[in-house]
Amino acid sequence: MLTSTTTEAGLGARLYGTADWYDAEALLTCDERTVLARLREFLDADAKPLLAGYWERGEFPEQLAQPLIDLDLMEPFEEAARGIFHGFRIFELARTDASLATWYTAQAGLFRTAIRVGASAEQQEEWMPGVVDFSLKGVFSLTEPEHGSDIAGGLATTARFEPGTTADGGTWVLDGAKRWIGGASTADVLCVFARDVADGQVKAFLVDRTASGVSLEKIHGKASLRMMQNAHITLSGVRVPESMRLQEVNSFKDVAAMLRAMRSDVAWIAAGVQAGAFEAALAYVRERQQFGRPLGSFQLVQEKLARMLGNTTASLSLVTRLSEQQAKGIYRDQDSALAKMQTSLMMRETVALAREVVGGNGITLAADVARFHADAEAVYSYEGTHEINALIVGRALTGESAFTH
Ligand SMILES: Cc1cc2nc3c(=O)[nH]c(=O)nc-3n(C[C@H](O)[C@H](O)[C@H](O)COP(=O)(O)OP(=O)(O)OC[C@H]3O[C@@H](n4cnc5c(N)ncnc54)[C@H](O)[C@@H]3O)c2cc1C
Repeated sequence: MLTSTTTEAGLGARLYGTADWYDAEALLTCDERTVLARLREFLDADAKPLLAGYWERGEFPEQLAQPLIDLDLMEPFEEAARGIFHGFRIFELARTDASLATWYTAQAGLFRTAIRVGASAEQQEEWMPGVVDFSLKGVFSLTEPEHGSDIAGGLATTARFEPGTTADGGTWVLDGAKRWIGGASTADVLCVFARDVADGQVKAFLVDRTASGVSLEKIHGKASLRMMQNAHITLSGVRVPESMRLQEVNSFKDVAAMLRAMRSDVAWIAAGVQAGAFEAALAYVRERQQFGRPLGSFQLVQEKLARMLGNTTASLSLVTRLSEQQAKGIYRDQDSALAKMQTSLMMRETVALAREVVGGNGITLAADVARFHADAEAVYSYEGTHEINALIVGRALTGESAFTH
Protein backbone atom coordinates (compact mmCIF):
# COMPACT_ATOMS: atom_id res chain seq x y z
CA MET A 1 0.00 0.00 0.00
CA LEU A 2 1.06 3.60 -0.45
CA THR A 3 2.45 5.24 2.64
CA SER A 4 1.97 8.93 3.24
CA THR A 5 5.68 9.39 2.61
CA THR A 6 5.57 7.90 -0.84
CA THR A 7 2.32 9.68 -1.63
CA GLU A 8 3.85 12.97 -0.69
CA ALA A 9 7.10 12.21 -2.48
CA GLY A 10 5.99 14.34 -5.38
CA LEU A 11 7.09 13.78 -8.94
CA GLY A 12 8.46 16.84 -10.60
CA ALA A 13 9.80 15.34 -13.81
CA ARG A 14 7.67 13.28 -16.14
CA LEU A 15 8.22 9.53 -15.91
CA TYR A 16 8.04 8.76 -19.59
CA GLY A 17 9.52 11.86 -21.20
CA THR A 18 10.28 11.46 -24.89
CA ALA A 19 8.63 8.05 -25.40
CA ASP A 20 5.33 9.50 -24.14
CA TRP A 21 5.39 12.38 -26.61
CA TYR A 22 1.78 13.47 -26.06
CA ASP A 23 2.01 13.16 -22.26
CA ALA A 24 -0.49 10.32 -21.69
CA GLU A 25 0.85 9.99 -18.17
CA ALA A 26 -0.87 13.29 -17.34
CA LEU A 27 -4.02 11.15 -17.04
CA LEU A 28 -2.55 9.36 -14.01
CA THR A 29 -2.98 10.56 -10.43
CA CYS A 30 -0.01 11.50 -8.28
CA ASP A 31 -0.43 8.27 -6.24
CA GLU A 32 -0.40 6.19 -9.39
CA ARG A 33 2.70 7.89 -10.71
CA THR A 34 4.40 7.31 -7.35
CA VAL A 35 3.70 3.56 -7.63
CA LEU A 36 5.08 3.59 -11.17
CA ALA A 37 8.17 5.49 -10.08
CA ARG A 38 8.79 2.89 -7.38
CA LEU A 39 8.38 0.13 -9.95
CA ARG A 40 10.81 1.94 -12.29
CA GLU A 41 13.37 2.26 -9.50
CA PHE A 42 13.20 -1.46 -8.81
CA LEU A 43 13.37 -2.43 -12.48
CA ASP A 44 16.35 -0.16 -13.17
CA ALA A 45 18.34 -1.19 -10.11
CA ASP A 46 17.49 -4.88 -9.69
CA ALA A 47 16.02 -6.23 -12.90
CA LYS A 48 17.93 -4.60 -15.77
CA PRO A 49 21.37 -5.93 -14.79
CA LEU A 50 20.03 -9.50 -14.90
CA LEU A 51 18.13 -9.44 -18.16
CA ALA A 52 20.77 -10.27 -20.78
CA GLY A 53 22.16 -13.23 -18.84
CA TYR A 54 18.81 -14.79 -18.02
CA TRP A 55 17.56 -14.19 -21.57
CA GLU A 56 20.61 -15.92 -23.02
CA ARG A 57 20.21 -18.90 -20.68
CA GLY A 58 16.45 -19.13 -21.31
CA GLU A 59 15.65 -18.87 -17.60
CA PHE A 60 13.32 -16.63 -15.62
CA PRO A 61 14.99 -14.58 -12.84
CA GLU A 62 12.82 -16.03 -10.07
CA GLN A 63 14.52 -13.80 -7.49
CA LEU A 64 12.65 -10.83 -9.00
CA ALA A 65 9.22 -12.39 -8.48
CA GLN A 66 8.78 -11.80 -4.74
CA PRO A 67 10.14 -8.22 -4.74
CA LEU A 68 7.80 -7.41 -7.64
CA ILE A 69 4.89 -8.96 -5.73
CA ASP A 70 5.94 -6.97 -2.63
CA LEU A 71 5.46 -3.76 -4.64
CA ASP A 72 1.71 -4.51 -4.29
CA LEU A 73 1.26 -4.02 -8.00
CA MET A 74 -2.39 -4.99 -7.93
CA GLU A 75 -3.11 -2.85 -4.87
CA PRO A 76 -4.45 -0.48 -3.70
CA PHE A 77 -6.31 0.44 -6.86
CA GLU A 78 -7.25 -3.05 -8.07
CA GLU A 79 -10.36 -3.33 -10.23
CA ALA A 80 -11.36 0.31 -9.93
CA ALA A 81 -8.39 1.39 -11.97
CA ARG A 82 -8.10 -1.49 -14.40
CA GLY A 83 -8.03 1.30 -16.97
CA ILE A 84 -5.03 3.50 -17.54
CA PHE A 85 -3.12 2.78 -14.35
CA HIS A 86 -3.34 -0.97 -14.93
CA GLY A 87 -2.10 -0.32 -18.46
CA PHE A 88 0.81 1.86 -17.39
CA ARG A 89 2.07 -0.80 -14.97
CA ILE A 90 2.21 -3.20 -17.91
CA PHE A 91 3.80 -0.47 -20.06
CA GLU A 92 6.50 0.15 -17.43
CA LEU A 93 7.31 -3.55 -17.16
CA ALA A 94 7.34 -4.06 -20.94
CA ARG A 95 9.51 -0.98 -21.41
CA THR A 96 12.08 -2.91 -19.39
CA ASP A 97 11.37 -6.42 -20.62
CA ALA A 98 8.53 -8.22 -22.40
CA SER A 99 8.94 -11.41 -20.34
CA LEU A 100 8.55 -9.48 -17.08
CA ALA A 101 5.40 -7.85 -18.46
CA THR A 102 4.10 -11.23 -19.64
CA TRP A 103 4.85 -12.76 -16.22
CA TYR A 104 2.80 -9.99 -14.59
CA THR A 105 -0.11 -10.14 -17.02
CA ALA A 106 -0.29 -13.95 -16.69
CA GLN A 107 -1.47 -13.35 -13.11
CA ALA A 108 -2.90 -9.79 -13.11
CA GLY A 109 -4.50 -10.12 -16.54
CA LEU A 110 -5.17 -13.71 -17.63
CA PHE A 111 -5.70 -15.51 -14.33
CA ARG A 112 -7.41 -12.61 -12.55
CA THR A 113 -9.75 -12.12 -15.51
CA ALA A 114 -10.58 -15.84 -15.56
CA ILE A 115 -11.60 -15.64 -11.89
CA ARG A 116 -13.37 -12.27 -12.24
CA VAL A 117 -15.42 -13.37 -15.25
CA GLY A 118 -15.73 -17.09 -14.58
CA ALA A 119 -15.97 -17.63 -10.82
CA SER A 120 -19.19 -17.40 -8.79
CA ALA A 121 -19.48 -14.69 -6.13
CA GLU A 122 -18.57 -17.23 -3.40
CA GLN A 123 -15.60 -18.54 -5.37
CA GLN A 124 -14.39 -15.00 -6.00
CA GLU A 125 -14.61 -14.20 -2.32
CA GLU A 126 -12.49 -17.25 -1.56
CA TRP A 127 -9.90 -16.92 -4.33
CA MET A 128 -9.57 -13.28 -5.32
CA PRO A 129 -7.49 -12.12 -2.31
CA GLY A 130 -4.92 -14.82 -3.16
CA VAL A 131 -4.98 -13.83 -6.82
CA VAL A 132 -4.31 -10.20 -5.99
CA ASP A 133 -1.46 -10.87 -3.53
CA PHE A 134 -0.05 -13.72 -5.70
CA SER A 135 -0.44 -16.29 -2.88
CA LEU A 136 -2.67 -18.20 -5.31
CA LYS A 137 -0.70 -18.22 -8.56
CA GLY A 138 -2.59 -19.35 -11.61
CA VAL A 139 -2.21 -19.66 -15.35
CA PHE A 140 -4.59 -19.60 -18.29
CA SER A 141 -4.54 -22.95 -20.08
CA LEU A 142 -6.53 -22.59 -23.27
CA THR A 143 -4.30 -23.28 -26.31
CA GLU A 144 -3.73 -26.89 -27.35
CA PRO A 145 -1.08 -28.60 -29.49
CA GLU A 146 -3.54 -29.01 -32.37
CA HIS A 147 -5.72 -25.94 -31.77
CA GLY A 148 -4.51 -22.33 -31.56
CA SER A 149 -6.45 -19.88 -33.72
CA ASP A 150 -9.37 -22.30 -34.05
CA ILE A 151 -9.61 -23.06 -30.34
CA ALA A 152 -13.25 -21.90 -30.05
CA GLY A 153 -14.57 -24.71 -32.21
CA GLY A 154 -11.59 -27.04 -31.98
CA LEU A 155 -10.91 -27.30 -28.24
CA ALA A 156 -10.38 -31.02 -27.76
CA THR A 157 -9.55 -31.49 -24.06
CA THR A 158 -12.47 -33.35 -22.50
CA ALA A 159 -14.25 -33.12 -19.14
CA ARG A 160 -16.37 -36.04 -18.00
CA PHE A 161 -18.60 -35.71 -14.94
CA GLU A 162 -18.88 -38.46 -12.37
CA PRO A 163 -21.81 -37.58 -10.12
CA GLY A 164 -21.90 -38.19 -6.41
CA THR A 165 -18.40 -39.55 -5.99
CA THR A 166 -17.51 -36.92 -3.42
CA ALA A 167 -19.42 -34.99 -0.77
CA ASP A 168 -18.96 -31.70 -2.65
CA GLY A 169 -21.15 -32.55 -5.60
CA GLY A 170 -19.23 -34.88 -7.87
CA THR A 171 -15.94 -35.05 -9.71
CA TRP A 172 -14.78 -34.15 -13.21
CA VAL A 173 -12.22 -36.17 -15.09
CA LEU A 174 -10.04 -34.20 -17.53
CA ASP A 175 -8.10 -35.63 -20.48
CA GLY A 176 -6.14 -33.81 -23.14
CA ALA A 177 -3.15 -31.51 -23.66
CA LYS A 178 -2.38 -27.79 -23.49
CA ARG A 179 0.47 -25.93 -25.15
CA TRP A 180 2.39 -22.70 -24.62
CA ILE A 181 1.03 -22.13 -21.13
CA GLY A 182 3.03 -19.22 -19.66
CA GLY A 183 4.21 -19.50 -16.05
CA ALA A 184 2.76 -22.99 -15.51
CA SER A 185 5.89 -24.43 -13.90
CA THR A 186 5.64 -22.05 -10.91
CA ALA A 187 1.83 -21.84 -10.65
CA ASP A 188 -0.26 -23.29 -7.84
CA VAL A 189 -3.22 -23.96 -10.13
CA LEU A 190 -3.83 -24.25 -13.84
CA CYS A 191 -7.07 -22.78 -15.11
CA VAL A 192 -7.88 -25.46 -17.68
CA PHE A 193 -10.57 -25.09 -20.33
CA ALA A 194 -12.14 -28.39 -21.37
CA ARG A 195 -15.17 -29.53 -23.33
CA ASP A 196 -17.91 -31.23 -21.36
CA VAL A 197 -18.58 -34.53 -23.16
CA ALA A 198 -22.22 -34.40 -22.02
CA ASP A 199 -23.31 -31.09 -23.57
CA GLY A 200 -20.33 -30.24 -25.81
CA GLN A 201 -19.81 -26.88 -24.07
CA VAL A 202 -16.49 -25.45 -22.86
CA LYS A 203 -16.10 -25.30 -19.06
CA ALA A 204 -13.23 -24.13 -16.85
CA PHE A 205 -11.50 -25.84 -13.93
CA LEU A 206 -8.82 -24.91 -11.42
CA VAL A 207 -6.46 -27.87 -11.48
CA ASP A 208 -3.75 -28.32 -8.86
CA ARG A 209 -0.44 -28.25 -10.76
CA THR A 210 0.79 -31.24 -8.77
CA ALA A 211 -2.40 -33.30 -9.14
CA SER A 212 -2.09 -36.90 -10.25
CA GLY A 213 -2.27 -37.16 -14.04
CA VAL A 214 -0.85 -33.65 -14.69
CA SER A 215 2.54 -33.51 -16.37
CA LEU A 216 4.43 -30.41 -17.45
CA GLU A 217 7.22 -30.15 -19.96
CA LYS A 218 9.20 -26.97 -20.59
CA ILE A 219 9.12 -25.76 -24.20
CA HIS A 220 12.79 -25.51 -25.18
CA GLY A 221 14.49 -23.73 -28.05
CA LYS A 222 12.44 -20.53 -28.10
CA ALA A 223 14.05 -17.69 -30.07
CA SER A 224 11.66 -15.12 -28.56
CA LEU A 225 10.56 -14.27 -25.02
CA ARG A 226 13.26 -16.62 -23.81
CA MET A 227 12.98 -15.64 -20.14
CA MET A 228 9.28 -16.46 -19.91
CA GLN A 229 8.74 -20.15 -19.25
CA ASN A 230 6.10 -21.85 -21.39
CA ALA A 231 4.85 -25.35 -20.79
CA HIS A 232 3.36 -28.21 -22.71
CA ILE A 233 0.84 -29.78 -20.33
CA THR A 234 -0.58 -33.29 -20.52
CA LEU A 235 -3.75 -34.16 -18.60
CA SER A 236 -4.49 -37.87 -18.16
CA GLY A 237 -7.52 -38.79 -16.10
CA VAL A 238 -7.05 -35.74 -13.85
CA ARG A 239 -9.76 -35.63 -11.16
CA VAL A 240 -11.16 -32.23 -10.18
CA PRO A 241 -13.97 -31.64 -7.68
CA GLU A 242 -17.05 -29.72 -8.83
CA SER A 243 -16.15 -27.02 -6.29
CA MET A 244 -13.08 -26.21 -8.42
CA ARG A 245 -15.10 -25.67 -11.59
CA LEU A 246 -15.61 -21.98 -12.44
CA GLN A 247 -19.34 -21.81 -12.03
CA GLU A 248 -19.97 -18.98 -14.50
CA VAL A 249 -18.23 -20.56 -17.50
CA ASN A 250 -20.89 -22.41 -19.46
CA SER A 251 -19.75 -22.05 -23.07
CA PHE A 252 -16.96 -20.55 -25.21
CA LYS A 253 -18.85 -17.25 -25.12
CA ASP A 254 -17.74 -16.86 -21.50
CA VAL A 255 -14.13 -17.54 -22.53
CA ALA A 256 -14.48 -14.94 -25.31
CA ALA A 257 -15.51 -12.40 -22.67
CA MET A 258 -12.22 -13.09 -20.88
CA LEU A 259 -10.17 -12.73 -24.07
CA ARG A 260 -11.86 -9.44 -24.88
CA ALA A 261 -10.66 -8.01 -21.57
CA MET A 262 -7.18 -9.54 -21.68
CA ARG A 263 -6.20 -8.57 -25.20
CA SER A 264 -5.89 -4.94 -24.26
CA ASP A 265 -3.08 -5.90 -21.85
CA VAL A 266 -1.07 -7.25 -24.78
CA ALA A 267 -1.60 -4.00 -26.66
CA TRP A 268 -0.07 -2.21 -23.64
CA ILE A 269 2.86 -4.65 -23.77
CA ALA A 270 3.33 -3.84 -27.47
CA ALA A 271 3.37 -0.12 -26.63
CA GLY A 272 5.86 -0.64 -23.78
CA VAL A 273 8.21 -2.77 -25.87
CA GLN A 274 8.34 0.05 -28.43
CA ALA A 275 9.14 2.63 -25.76
CA GLY A 276 11.99 0.47 -24.44
CA ALA A 277 13.47 -0.19 -27.88
CA PHE A 278 13.09 3.44 -28.98
CA GLU A 279 14.75 4.82 -25.84
CA ALA A 280 17.67 2.39 -26.14
CA ALA A 281 18.14 3.26 -29.83
CA LEU A 282 17.92 7.01 -29.20
CA ALA A 283 20.56 6.84 -26.46
CA TYR A 284 22.84 4.85 -28.74
CA VAL A 285 22.66 7.12 -31.79
CA ARG A 286 23.39 10.15 -29.65
CA GLU A 287 26.62 8.56 -28.45
CA ARG A 288 27.96 6.54 -31.34
CA GLN A 289 30.08 8.50 -33.84
CA GLN A 290 30.62 7.69 -37.52
CA PHE A 291 32.14 10.00 -40.14
CA GLY A 292 33.16 12.18 -37.21
CA ARG A 293 29.57 12.91 -36.15
CA PRO A 294 26.96 11.25 -33.94
CA LEU A 295 24.72 8.77 -35.82
CA GLY A 296 21.77 10.84 -34.64
CA SER A 297 22.90 13.78 -36.77
CA PHE A 298 22.31 11.92 -40.05
CA GLN A 299 19.06 12.62 -41.89
CA LEU A 300 18.33 8.97 -42.62
CA VAL A 301 18.77 8.03 -38.97
CA GLN A 302 16.52 10.90 -37.87
CA GLU A 303 13.79 9.67 -40.21
CA LYS A 304 13.93 6.26 -38.50
CA LEU A 305 13.80 7.88 -35.06
CA ALA A 306 10.73 9.85 -36.14
CA ARG A 307 9.01 6.69 -37.37
CA MET A 308 9.77 4.87 -34.11
CA LEU A 309 8.41 7.80 -32.13
CA GLY A 310 5.35 8.02 -34.37
CA ASN A 311 4.60 4.32 -33.86
CA THR A 312 5.16 4.49 -30.11
CA THR A 313 3.03 7.61 -29.72
CA ALA A 314 0.23 6.18 -31.85
CA SER A 315 0.31 2.94 -29.85
CA LEU A 316 0.23 4.72 -26.53
CA SER A 317 -2.63 6.95 -27.67
CA LEU A 318 -4.56 3.90 -28.86
CA VAL A 319 -4.18 1.89 -25.66
CA THR A 320 -4.87 4.88 -23.45
CA ARG A 321 -8.16 5.55 -25.19
CA LEU A 322 -9.06 1.83 -25.15
CA SER A 323 -8.43 1.66 -21.40
CA GLU A 324 -10.52 4.79 -20.84
CA GLN A 325 -13.39 3.01 -22.59
CA GLN A 326 -12.87 -0.18 -20.60
CA ALA A 327 -12.77 1.75 -17.33
CA LYS A 328 -16.27 2.92 -18.23
CA GLY A 329 -17.31 -0.72 -18.73
CA ILE A 330 -17.25 -0.60 -22.54
CA TYR A 331 -15.77 -3.89 -23.75
CA ARG A 332 -16.12 -4.92 -27.41
CA ASP A 333 -14.23 -7.73 -29.14
CA GLN A 334 -13.36 -5.52 -32.09
CA ASP A 335 -11.89 -2.77 -29.89
CA SER A 336 -9.30 -4.87 -28.09
CA ALA A 337 -8.65 -6.86 -31.29
CA LEU A 338 -7.96 -3.64 -33.21
CA ALA A 339 -5.61 -2.36 -30.50
CA LYS A 340 -3.72 -5.66 -30.26
CA MET A 341 -3.45 -5.93 -34.04
CA GLN A 342 -2.34 -2.37 -34.70
CA THR A 343 0.08 -1.90 -31.79
CA SER A 344 1.71 -5.25 -32.59
CA LEU A 345 2.11 -4.30 -36.22
CA MET A 346 3.74 -1.00 -35.28
CA MET A 347 5.85 -2.75 -32.64
CA ARG A 348 7.35 -5.02 -35.26
CA GLU A 349 8.45 -2.01 -37.32
CA THR A 350 9.69 -0.05 -34.30
CA VAL A 351 11.89 -2.83 -32.90
CA ALA A 352 13.30 -3.56 -36.36
CA LEU A 353 14.22 0.12 -36.83
CA ALA A 354 15.73 0.26 -33.34
CA ARG A 355 17.86 -2.78 -34.10
CA GLU A 356 18.81 -1.30 -37.48
CA VAL A 357 20.10 2.07 -36.24
CA VAL A 358 22.32 0.30 -33.71
CA GLY A 359 24.08 -1.53 -36.56
CA GLY A 360 26.12 -4.63 -35.77
CA ASN A 361 25.90 -4.01 -32.04
CA GLY A 362 22.13 -4.15 -32.53
CA ILE A 363 22.24 -7.90 -32.69
CA THR A 364 23.98 -8.21 -29.32
CA LEU A 365 22.15 -8.31 -26.00
CA ALA A 366 24.51 -5.65 -24.62
CA ALA A 367 23.08 -2.80 -26.71
CA ASP A 368 19.58 -3.55 -25.36
CA VAL A 369 17.65 -3.54 -28.63
CA ALA A 370 18.14 -7.20 -29.71
CA ARG A 371 16.07 -8.52 -26.78
CA PHE A 372 13.13 -6.27 -27.69
CA HIS A 373 13.52 -7.19 -31.34
CA ALA A 374 13.38 -10.93 -30.65
CA ASP A 375 10.70 -10.77 -27.93
CA ALA A 376 8.34 -8.76 -30.14
CA GLU A 377 7.75 -11.86 -32.27
CA ALA A 378 6.05 -13.78 -29.45
CA VAL A 379 3.95 -10.75 -28.49
CA TYR A 380 2.95 -10.42 -32.15
CA SER A 381 1.57 -13.98 -32.14
CA TYR A 382 0.10 -14.63 -28.70
CA GLU A 383 -3.43 -13.80 -27.55
CA GLY A 384 -4.69 -13.74 -31.10
CA THR A 385 -2.44 -13.51 -34.13
CA HIS A 386 -2.50 -10.53 -36.48
CA GLU A 387 -4.82 -12.38 -38.86
CA ILE A 388 -7.28 -13.52 -36.19
CA ASN A 389 -7.56 -10.03 -34.70
CA ALA A 390 -7.98 -8.57 -38.19
CA LEU A 391 -10.79 -11.06 -38.83
CA ILE A 392 -12.51 -10.02 -35.58
CA VAL A 393 -12.37 -6.40 -36.74
CA GLY A 394 -13.46 -7.39 -40.25
CA ARG A 395 -16.46 -9.25 -38.88
CA ALA A 396 -17.52 -6.16 -36.93
CA LEU A 397 -17.09 -3.95 -40.01
CA THR A 398 -18.97 -6.14 -42.48
CA GLY A 399 -21.21 -8.38 -40.40
CA GLU A 400 -19.55 -11.33 -42.20
CA SER A 401 -17.45 -13.89 -40.37
CA ALA A 402 -14.49 -14.82 -42.60
CA PHE A 403 -12.67 -17.16 -40.20
CA THR A 404 -13.27 -20.32 -42.20
CA HIS A 405 -13.51 -19.02 -45.78
C1 LIG B 1 5.21 -17.12 -26.01
C2 LIG B 1 3.80 -17.57 -26.07
C3 LIG B 1 3.03 -17.56 -24.91
C4 LIG B 1 1.72 -18.05 -24.90
N1 LIG B 1 1.02 -18.11 -23.74
C5 LIG B 1 -0.20 -18.73 -23.72
C6 LIG B 1 -0.88 -18.94 -22.47
O1 LIG B 1 -0.41 -18.57 -21.40
N2 LIG B 1 -2.09 -19.57 -22.52
C7 LIG B 1 -2.65 -20.00 -23.68
O2 LIG B 1 -3.74 -20.57 -23.62
N3 LIG B 1 -2.02 -19.80 -24.86
C8 LIG B 1 -0.81 -19.19 -24.91
N4 LIG B 1 -0.15 -18.99 -26.12
C9 LIG B 1 -0.76 -19.49 -27.36
C10 LIG B 1 -1.14 -18.40 -28.35
O3 LIG B 1 -2.29 -17.73 -27.93
C11 LIG B 1 -1.24 -19.04 -29.72
O4 LIG B 1 0.09 -19.30 -30.15
C12 LIG B 1 -1.97 -18.20 -30.73
O5 LIG B 1 -3.33 -18.12 -30.41
C13 LIG B 1 -1.83 -18.75 -32.16
O6 LIG B 1 -2.09 -20.09 -32.23
P1 LIG B 1 -1.02 -21.08 -32.94
O7 LIG B 1 0.32 -20.74 -32.41
O8 LIG B 1 -1.51 -22.46 -32.75
O9 LIG B 1 -1.02 -20.68 -34.47
P2 LIG B 1 -1.98 -21.23 -35.62
O10 LIG B 1 -3.39 -21.12 -35.17
O11 LIG B 1 -1.50 -22.56 -36.07
O12 LIG B 1 -1.74 -20.18 -36.76
C14 LIG B 1 -0.61 -20.19 -37.64
C15 LIG B 1 -0.74 -19.06 -38.63
O13 LIG B 1 -1.93 -19.25 -39.43
C16 LIG B 1 -2.76 -18.11 -39.37
N5 LIG B 1 -4.19 -18.48 -39.42
C17 LIG B 1 -4.85 -19.38 -38.66
N6 LIG B 1 -6.15 -19.39 -38.99
C18 LIG B 1 -6.33 -18.47 -39.97
C19 LIG B 1 -7.45 -18.01 -40.72
N7 LIG B 1 -8.68 -18.50 -40.53
N8 LIG B 1 -7.24 -17.08 -41.66
C20 LIG B 1 -6.01 -16.55 -41.86
N9 LIG B 1 -4.92 -16.93 -41.18
C21 LIG B 1 -5.07 -17.88 -40.24
C22 LIG B 1 -2.42 -17.46 -38.02
O14 LIG B 1 -2.78 -16.11 -38.00
C23 LIG B 1 -0.91 -17.69 -37.96
O15 LIG B 1 -0.25 -16.72 -38.72
C24 LIG B 1 1.16 -18.49 -26.13
C25 LIG B 1 1.91 -18.45 -27.29
C26 LIG B 1 3.23 -18.02 -27.28
C27 LIG B 1 4.02 -18.03 -28.55
